[in-house]
Amino acid sequence: MAEAPPISLDGLRAGCSFAALPRGFYARVDPRPLRAPRLLHANPDAAALLGLDADALRSPEFLALCSGAGRLADMTPLATAYSGHQFGVWAGQLGDGRAHLLGDVRTPEGVWEIQLKGSGRTPFSRMGDGWAVLRSSVREYLASEAMAGLGIPTTRALALVASDDPVVRETVETAAVVTRLAPSFVRFGHFEHWGHSHHEQKALLDYVVDHWYPECRETSGGETDAPATACRLLTEVTRRTARLIAQWQLAGFCHGVMNTDNMSILGLTLDYGPYGFMDAFQANHICNHSDTAGRYAWNAQPAVARWNLYRLAGSLLVLGCEASALESCLAPFEAEFLAAYRDGLARKLGLDAWRPDDAALEDDWWSLLHAQRADFTLAFRRLADADRDAGPWLDLFPDPAPARAWLDRYLARRAGQGGDADARRAAMSRANPVYVLRNHLAQRAIEAAQRGDASEIDRLLTLLRDPYAERPGSDFYARPPAADEPAVPVSCSS
Ligand code: AMP
Ligand code: MG
Repeated sequence: MAEAPPISLDGLRAGCSFAALPRGFYARVDPRPLRAPRLLHANPDAAALLGLDADALRSPEFLALCSGAGRLADMTPLATAYSGHQFGVWAGQLGDGRAHLLGDVRTPEGVWEIQLKGSGRTPFSRMGDGWAVLRSSVREYLASEAMAGLGIPTTRALALVASDDPVVRETVETAAVVTRLAPSFVRFGHFEHWGHSHHEQKALLDYVVDHWYPECRETSGGETDAPATACRLLTEVTRRTARLIAQWQLAGFCHGVMNTDNMSILGLTLDYGPYGFMDAFQANHICNHSDTAGRYAWNAQPAVARWNLYRLAGSLLVLGCEASALESCLAPFEAEFLAAYRDGLARKLGLDAWRPDDAALEDDWWSLLHAQRADFTLAFRRLADADRDAGPWLDLFPDPAPARAWLDRYLARRAGQGGDADARRAAMSRANPVYVLRNHLAQRAIEAAQRGDASEIDRLLTLLRDPYAERPGSDFYARPPAADEPAVPVSCSS
């Protein structure tokens, strides 16, 4: 079959830096287009990153590109090979089983890779069908932008395309494709894949360092010193990952499947599946019904990230790195995590800085929320005004006496630091979102989308793009689900 002629989209051209890696890194494979695709939603914020305007998003070429039917000039779609540890166990080769890297677009602000997810089988599909259902695609689309709105590093979502193509999961659902953007989709798992091949691991190291971590390159005698460069890279990835997880913790975000193949080498949140933003706080909250042991519970995320970094470190031994040197690259994790976490928590609590004796106040804060299953997001948000009127905040606690006792200690601590109350209140409002992508809100958007109605997606994106700004008439979106509303079960099925 003759290759389809390239489409033109506002002069967008796509190269593909990944394709310069040796052959075993990827397989060239075209997406399988959705039948009778419908553009359910296009995201102007992500489009702006590529320099695409509203007209381009309405064009048939855009729909063709985002449904897997079109290709840009110079574009050669491919699926990449990676491996990984899933739920703590070595899973061997995985790879892009339902994702196609279309290419990368150069913009004045940097390079963006364009990737389709749910676009058909690849040589890495194993037993999978290559599809993604609308339900999980809406969740990925919304979560990417919710995280971006919170200022948390993440892949982005450009478009959501739906079709009536049937996809069999627990029931028969319909297919969709999400177009994702990221500077790079390289995962820890790409390094694990080449953990026994010096030549390929060196090529991957050079590739990642050249493009995203040039400051990590170490040379000796004019040549790259691979072990030293790998150590610098690992140190930097350790730092970024630690800061990322601190931000997750402070947003009440649970990733749900922190397998090493879902960990970004750039420290981005990657692969939104059975994630969750907590409603009622529970320290050991498990958002993924498939995670029966709670490996990826909220309070386990920092330790799991560190465990994953150890797997990444292990894959670098093949470059001739000393195990002890790699281990010392991982050492900054705890300090980096704690610094970011405490700094963020201080801002959320309206404290001028984190002081060592704030630890007891912090411990008691989480214990209080946990004991009473108080709403994570509202408990922070309403604290800003609790000095003027404690009522709305106290309403979050079924037993107000211990909450009142904590509040008095907290207000005393805050009063001790002085400062302008209005400025403090405003700063707290910029640190504590009103709106997060609660499961029941995502579920409403999914059910509407399944009826062909994208208005809830649009509404949520509007709120989540700036989740700190309270919008009149949107109270419903700030509230947790009603007590008698059954919880939305979220699993690995996607
Ligand atoms: P995930 O749990 O979604 O991060 O996926 C783990 C691995 O399974 C990756 O290699 C995916 O590409 C692959 N995978 C997941 N779902 C499918 C599917 N429906 N078809 C093909 N591969 C899949
Ligand atoms: Mg994945």
